[in-house]
Amino acid sequence: MTGHAALLDDLQAMQKQSDGSLTLLLVDAGYPGKIIAQHGQQAADDLLYQVATLLKNFCRKKDSVSRIGDHTFAVLLAGVSKSGHTVLAAEKIMRMQREVLETSDSPVRLDLSIGIASFPRHTKSPEDLVQKARIALEVARDTKSGYATYSPVVAATMASKWDLQQELVAAIETGSLELYFQPKVSAVDRQPVGAEALMRWTSLKHGPIGPDIFIPLAEQAGLMKDLTRYAINAALRQASEWPDIGRPLAVAVNMTPESIQDPDLVDIVNSALSIWGAPNRELVLEITESALVEDSENSFATLYRLRELGVGISIDDFGTGYSSLSYFKDIPASELKIDQSFVLNMLTEEKDRNIVETVIWLAHRFDLTVVAEGVESVEILEALAGMGCDVAQGYYFAKALPQEEFIEWLIDQSSKTARA
Ligand code: C2E
Ligand code: CA
Ligand code: CA
Repeated sequence: MTGHAALLDDLQAMQKQSDGSLTLLLVDAGYPGKIIAQHGQQAADDLLYQVATLLKNFCRKKDSVSRIGDHTFAVLLAGVSKSGHTVLAAEKIMRMQREVLETSDSPVRLDLSIGIASFPRHTKSPEDLVQKARIALEVARDTKSGYATYSPVVAATMASKWDLQQELVAAIETGSLELYFQPKVSAVDRQPVGAEALMRWTSLKHGPIGPDIFIPLAEQAGLMKDLTRYAINAALRQASEWPDIGRPLAVAVNMTPESIQDPDLVDIVNSALSIWGAPNRELVLEITESALVEDSENSFATLYRLRELGVGISIDDFGTGYSSLSYFKDIPASELKIDQSFVLNMLTEEKDRNIVETVIWLAHRFDLTVVAEGVESVEILEALAGMGCDVAQGYYFAKALPQEEFIEWLIDQSSKTARA
């Protein structure tokens, strides 16, 4: 019998015994997939063992605990259904988790989420109870709140999220996501050196939805691999249509932490480069600093292979992660992008200006090209050029433009140079 079927049986049996009031806590132990990649199978097994022990210690005699999925446990609390009591129970599990954390020297940290639903408050059907606890669990995970109790409002929020996710799946399948291009310009001679591809989605039901919303949605739905493959191919295809302006133009594609952990990434890049006939050095992959810190061993190996092929590797949002200086020694990057939060106010905030200046100096010591993001005025551009910054990107030049407008912008720039 599977974990799920056994749980339904337990639910029915306990429902009969315990005057019909019963609470199901679905306890999720984080993401062992990622843990296995980082610390090995043994660490993931240890983690699950810790969770099972914690939950057994928590349960009273009449309660029960079972494992119902790779990293999900079901706790049944007999005779408990009042919301105050179920919340106390969830808080007690969270407290026990903190105690384990304080005493454990394991490299993997417990990070539990709990979804709560009760008989007869939320439903009388065992199937439905499990479904409702799953919805609550998803909310707890999404909001990182630790635990959440089922309610119709919570269910409606999740339903619209799943709805949007479904629409996103269809949009990826039909290729209706678009890439826009934002120019990257030399800070020295103000000539274009390439562009960053930024994804745009217009949902049929909800209108334009920003990447800040749909990229995390795609990550949660396991769609990132498809989306990244699509972005790399679409970016190279469209870059192959850009006019010749007498110097090479590189196209940059954004990667999520998950995309650089994908063992197929090198093959995806290689085949896209050969399909679209682009020189390898004209593709840049932008990777946030925090993505590298998260799983440096595996991602560094992939990045080294890409660098050997000549593909550019850019460290995005630099300054917002937690990297140490020793990380510079080994990083297989060719470019560093100073996060816009330091650039936007660098003329008025002395501290920001100092950071920008220091990062430029540091990056050059490691032979990295420096790009400043968020350049919104000519004054900032001039200040950056004075500090030796190589490339600038921001609204001063252009926002992200659809392909045709980007091509017009390129032509416009070269005619300006020809006239000068
Ligand atoms: P990012 O890679 O840091 O992209 C820069 C963001 O700053 C873009 O927002 C861009 O429009 C905005 N920006 C550019 N110049 C300026 C400026 O001068 N001032 C200000 N205030 N903002 C400026 P966008 O397009 O909304 O993208 C947000 C984030 O979504 C990106 O941050 C990137 O992390 C992610 N993203 C976008 N497209 C993709 C994609 O195809 N794949 C992946 N994995 N992530 C993507
Ligand atoms: Ca970027
Ligand atoms: Ca950035």
